[in-house]
Amino acid sequence: MIYDVVIAGAGPAGFGAAMGAARAGKKVFIFDRNSGPGGVPVYCGCPVFSGMSPFVEGSAAGIGAEFSAAMKEKAFANNPHCKLVSSEFTVGLTMTRMLRAAGVDMLFYVELTDVEREGDELRSVTVTGCGKHITIRGRSFIDCTGDAVLASMAGARCLCGSADETMTKTLLFRVTGIGNYDRELIGRKFAEGGFPFPWQDQFMGTFVGEKGEDFLLNLTAVSGTAQSPEELTRMDMELREQVAAVLEWVRKALPGFENCRLVAVAPIIGVRGGRNIAGREQITTGDLDENTPVTEPVAVGKRSYGEHYIKTFRAPWSKSQVGLRAVPYGALLSADIANLAAGGRGIGVEPRAVSAVRLIPVCIATGQAAGIAAALGFPAYDVLREELVKQKCRFETA
Ligand SMILES: Cc1cc2nc3c(=O)[nH]c(=O)nc-3n(C[C@H](O)[C@H](O)[C@H](O)COP(=O)(O)OP(=O)(O)OC[C@H]3O[C@@H](n4cnc5c(N)ncnc54)[C@H](O)[C@@H]3O)c2cc1C
Repeated sequence: MIYDVVIAGAGPAGFGAAMGAARAGKKVFIFDRNSGPGGVPVYCGCPVFSGMSPFVEGSAAGIGAEFSAAMKEKAFANNPHCKLVSSEFTVGLTMTRMLRAAGVDMLFYVELTDVEREGDELRSVTVTGCGKHITIRGRSFIDCTGDAVLASMAGARCLCGSADETMTKTLLFRVTGIGNYDRELIGRKFAEGGFPFPWQDQFMGTFVGEKGEDFLLNLTAVSGTAQSPEELTRMDMELREQVAAVLEWVRKALPGFENCRLVAVAPIIGVRGGRNIAGREQITTGDLDENTPVTEPVAVGKRSYGEHYIKTFRAPWSKSQVGLRAVPYGALLSADIANLAAGGRGIGVEPRAVSAVRLIPVCIATGQAAGIAAALGFPAYDVLREELVKQKCRFETA
């Protein structure tokens, strides 16, 4: 059997891509090395969909709005940081139910291990799990691995920043049993100093869970590359030591945290940025600064970039710019492989600008656009636009 669309990676982008392609009437296959869909929100402990209110409110935010509506009963809506927060279980289950209802074929517990390329086209991917190799043939492929793993294995050009440019890697953990919570007071206490790691110059934490029952602490960070298992192993060990030290410190130093209990540590490192495809077009910091017009918009991202630098929260090159900027069609398309697109944080964007497109709702949206494009055989923009409109995607900034 040949699938119309094969998707590597079932994080927010892969979820959006599979839904977009299936809604366009195609036979879709998606796989992931995790035990189900969700990527960072589910497997790195961050079910926090922040940043884009149109996503939550949206009549025109595509699959993101549908997902949000499906989560309504199981979302914590009073979070000041974000309007849609829930549990990993609910995020994963909601995505699974939507993918099943759309008729998407899914396979989990498998790692991408081989790619078959003929000229400038991909023919199949091979995935491996439990000692078994499975080859899946397809007409169009989408790299939603976050780190351009499929593109890189296929020999396509990729963009790689230095370890510092690609943002910090973090192990999220959460506690329960917090007393009176006063964010301003905590911010002031934090600013007084004494935090065990000098690079963390900003308190980052938020209530999570279906009823806001836990508090997620986003206070660990290391620098390194996510393209190397050796580096991931080193970083993971460092981060677990940081979790222990931070936990001890918050109990001693932060009002309300004196008696808090550790309830969960993310099983895997949260990678914010890694490797990106070289797109037919790249989103650059210059584009975001100048807000250059986008002639073929497919989704909407931020104009700000440069957060989560390893020495301070904001990188020396960071810019806080109000407003949104559209993501161009060309940033989803591989420069080298005719039937390969990308969605999510691994699209064609230079490493320093990745934070403009990495928020979960944006990843679902770029995934959905890539899914539609792949389903239609990477058509001219006018044809793609018609289906984006039909699927109620938001791709204009106004
Ligand atoms: C610590 C941290 C905190 C964050 N906080 C927020 C927040 O509060 N709000 C917000 O909106 N965003 C937040 N983000 C950003 C957001 O979670 C990510 O940018 C987003 O999940 C990226 O989606 P994606 O689908 O592109 O990639 P991912 O979520 O990384 O998904 C990629 C998937 O591909 C799979 N995969 C990779 N390689 C292979 C392979 N070789 N074989 C098989 N499967 C593979 C992975 O298992 C994974 O499931 C945070 C990120 C981190 C790391």
